[in-house]
Amino acid sequence: MMMFNTKNFMLMGLLCLSAGAFAQNGKDKPKTPNVSLNLKKYIDPANMDPSAKPGDDFFEYANGAWVKNNPIPAKETRWGSFGILHQENTDRLKSILTDVSKTPGQPKGSLKQRVGDLYASGIDSVAIEKRGYDPIKPDLERVSKINNLDGVVNEAIYERTHGIGSPLFGFGVGQDSKHPTVNILNFGQGGTSLPDRDNYLKNDERTKKIQAAYKNYIVTLFKLTGTSDADAAKNAETIFNIETAFAKAQLSRVAMRDPNKTYNKFAVKDFQSLTPHLKWDELLPLMEVKGQDTILVSNPAFYKATDALLASTPVDDWKTYLTWNVLKGSASSLSSPFEKASFAFSSALSGQKVQAPRDERAANLVDGSLGELLGQIYVEKYFKPAAKEYMVKLVNNLKETLGERIQGLSWMSAETKARALKKLAAFTVKIGYPDKWQNYDGLEIDRNDYAGNLRRISEWRYNYNVSQLGKPVDKTRWGMSPPTVNAYYSPTNNEIVFPAGILQFPFFDFNADDAVNYGGIGSVIGHEMTHGFDDQGRQYDADGTLRDWWTKDDADKFKSRADQVVNQYNKFTVVDTIHVNGKLTLGENLADLGGLNVAYAAFKKTKEGHSNQKIDGFTPDQRFFLSWAQVWRSSQRPEAAAQRILTDPHSPEQYRTNAPITNIDAWYKAFNVKPGDKMYKKPEDRTKVW
Ligand SMILES: [Zn+2]
Repeated sequence: MMMFNTKNFMLMGLLCLSAGAFAQNGKDKPKTPNVSLNLKKYIDPANMDPSAKPGDDFFEYANGAWVKNNPIPAKETRWGSFGILHQENTDRLKSILTDVSKTPGQPKGSLKQRVGDLYASGIDSVAIEKRGYDPIKPDLERVSKINNLDGVVNEAIYERTHGIGSPLFGFGVGQDSKHPTVNILNFGQGGTSLPDRDNYLKNDERTKKIQAAYKNYIVTLFKLTGTSDADAAKNAETIFNIETAFAKAQLSRVAMRDPNKTYNKFAVKDFQSLTPHLKWDELLPLMEVKGQDTILVSNPAFYKATDALLASTPVDDWKTYLTWNVLKGSASSLSSPFEKASFAFSSALSGQKVQAPRDERAANLVDGSLGELLGQIYVEKYFKPAAKEYMVKLVNNLKETLGERIQGLSWMSAETKARALKKLAAFTVKIGYPDKWQNYDGLEIDRNDYAGNLRRISEWRYNYNVSQLGKPVDKTRWGMSPPTVNAYYSPTNNEIVFPAGILQFPFFDFNADDAVNYGGIGSVIGHEMTHGFDDQGRQYDADGTLRDWWTKDDADKFKSRADQVVNQYNKFTVVDTIHVNGKLTLGENLADLGGLNVAYAAFKKTKEGHSNQKIDGFTPDQRFFLSWAQVWRSSQRPEAAAQRILTDPHSPEQYRTNAPITNIDAWYKAFNVKPGDKMYKKPEDRTKVW
């Protein structure tokens, strides 16, 4: 799920709290302590390392014993608060799906028939085994018959529109960021399989190991479908060379963060002259796109390079590449030799030791593909409406507090402040689950056809996505399913969204004191709000339009503060000599810093915030910062850590914990942090943005 996620194309532009690439889970999960609520220690000293000095390493001080006592389960690549909640949700989904799939006689096309039968098809290992690679034989045959360049391009479009994969480049319908009520066809860069262009272009030992594992994966799948050893090895080189050419043409992730640079509007006829070998008047109808004369292209140079590559590469090589797209797109849904090869490759990237049990993978797959059907049962069973009421109150408190902070900013002019406040007031807030559910109308799920179900789901998604062309943007839609342990800000909708899954301890608990809830979910709310004003989000105005509303002077002052944050994070290493990329993670780091500041200021308005009464040995301020650290407690495998540095816009958890607090005076006071302590920053070096 992590590597070849074409679904992400639709979610592009959403700024999430955490990159939730948790591999799915199994037997060795830690038990939730069975204590009655009023005795529960929300900040439990047993999880801390009292031998560490808070001013030297706050993450270790707050989480040291927890990390030591909770090794990463073999089926995980990292483990912490997010992972534990995700595991609990997986168990809940599994129990829902087991019930539903065993209840006979659900009317065809009903919610329960579809989620139950999708799950049943996913755990039916006997049927999956028996079919071998039959489900993709028609695709392999179709590709084998291609005999010219038009055939190559048409097949690429076919694979995209039929849920097989996304060869050559990515495309889909999304908001026009300069006219956010309008849907438009977006052309993205693509063509590769490894998670980042650096996986092709770098030459260090770690990268070489990944490349070798990837080629081995290609060889294995070709051999499994009847190709000779020699030809399979040759195919691996051909595919790797083609994908490396795509990687070279791609912009880096840092460059892709620039919303203006990646906004390139073309008349279709002008795009045609840039790409003479792609006949758009024929291709657009194949893409089910009608009546569009204007498109958006994130990286025009990529398309120019792709066009040249199409012309210079032999058709036979393209057939190999397209065959590979079929193989890799389906491997995990085929019989065990394919599935094992797919896992072997993914574990080379992530360090995951064993695969999660099939029933857990199937439960998460239903959540990932029919999330708003399964989510209806989930929220009915597990979401308390009172949680929504509490959240609404908390969001309002934080909104008000952020407004006061904006008004009080020393570096911003009154003119820009007024616009910032207007944007803040215009935030849409979504909590728990959608008001209007996606019902996946017309999507058929067959209990006996797992591979076919996955195809039909992807195909349905594609068709739904392109059906939005010509219609106004539907702002009721959600980018995450209700059980998701995450949150996001959408700049083009100017909305903050909190799925039901994150409204649980350690983020939130009805019985916890305010310090715990403000340090946890309060900081998450503040984080998402700050995304509206981070280096990307600040470029969108109150109605979500990509339009500059800043005075030049204020923008310069913002940038110089943001540069300080870039420099702070560039200094951190994660594994070996691999450094955090301060530019890639800037938006998230700004959101963490701003979120913690606004949550702290809002907490100080509560009764507990005014008091000095200790609970379980900690003052209210100490509990606030310890709660923040508890949310981020986590450890990860070195392979996953190295990969995330390339692809994840979030900093590693220990720095998400430690870096923002060093900029907040109250933390120094709460833990008596003094010059000489390792994390100490002189007051003039503490960065204040929001
Ligand atoms: Zn974020």
